[in-house]
Amino acid sequence: MSSNTRLLAVGLAGTGLGFLLSRILGGSAPKVEGKSKGSKPLAPKTLLGGVELGGTSICVTIAEDTPTNVIFQQVVQTTTPAETLPQVVKIFEERKVAALGIASFGPVDLNTDSKTYGYITATPKEKWRYADVVGRFRHLGIPLAFQTDVNAPALAEVRYGQHGPVSSLAYVTVGTGVGVGIVIDGKCVTGILHPEGGHIRVSKLSSDDFAGCCPFHGDCLEGLCAAGALGKRLKCDPSELKSLPEDHKLWDLVAYYLAQLCATLALIASPEVIVLGGGVLKHKGLFPKIRAEFKASLKGYLQVKKMLDDVDHYIVPSIFNESGKQTTAGAVGALTLAYDVLQ
Ligand SMILES: [Zn+2]
Repeated sequence: MSSNTRLLAVGLAGTGLGFLLSRILGGSAPKVEGKSKGSKPLAPKTLLGGVELGGTSICVTIAEDTPTNVIFQQVVQTTTPAETLPQVVKIFEERKVAALGIASFGPVDLNTDSKTYGYITATPKEKWRYADVVGRFRHLGIPLAFQTDVNAPALAEVRYGQHGPVSSLAYVTVGTGVGVGIVIDGKCVTGILHPEGGHIRVSKLSSDDFAGCCPFHGDCLEGLCAAGALGKRLKCDPSELKSLPEDHKLWDLVAYYLAQLCATLALIASPEVIVLGGGVLKHKGLFPKIRAEFKASLKGYLQVKKMLDDVDHYIVPSIFNESGKQTTAGAVGALTLAYDVLQ
């Protein structure tokens, strides 16, 4: 969804016109390509709720019957949990949904046996540290599902991203941070925590003397390549990156590091597709550079045709991020969590 359209939806939120507009916005959702294994159609007119909780804004969506049939969308600005979450809760108090999926920035506690299940945990965003997110919605009395804001879009991509009949996929977002979500055999990967692939260490270019800016690791991938790091490298505001020419040497460096993440994902998780999204990846010129560096990094070790001869279909942008599409992979991902919890 473009920022202008989002603002329009916010301005009209809560009005009949807002709901009508939201129905129109929903019309551009990608068509359904597949379903999870063994999934059953929901009863007609079942409403699904989705919350994509981001560091700067929260996208609230309602879909009918299937996660891609979005009929309502509203954006709430993220400030503090006490101020922001009640606004989101109110939307679902006023509109009856059968289940709710929440895809949140992290780190989050996904362990249902934990006392802090449903919380955001040790986030650098101080006001959100140990914020109970899921607990705010329990009084609705509906099934709730909680995931990271990168695992959920990975789930949306594997089902509805038009990547063919795949069951495994990695979703990488490069913006304020670097996030990695992984789906294997149709399910989000979680373990003792959840994937935190943005903080892997990469082999630095000898010509790169930037110390990195991750508060934990300095020159981890996120510390080298997230929008804030790129802004620091160029001594500019990250918002100015969008006007940086495609042939700027910075993009070669970014491609070199992101290709290492892609190679690491291929070596460890063996996904059938790697989807790259986020603000930095709006520079489409990055894709051919990343693919070339990916192949150079692996040196033909993985003898997989798709990686060797068809890498254009192995490392791909998200169709949800194409211009004209109003529904993000994160929003559809949150709705997919709600859909699955009703199965
Ligand atoms: Zn780090």
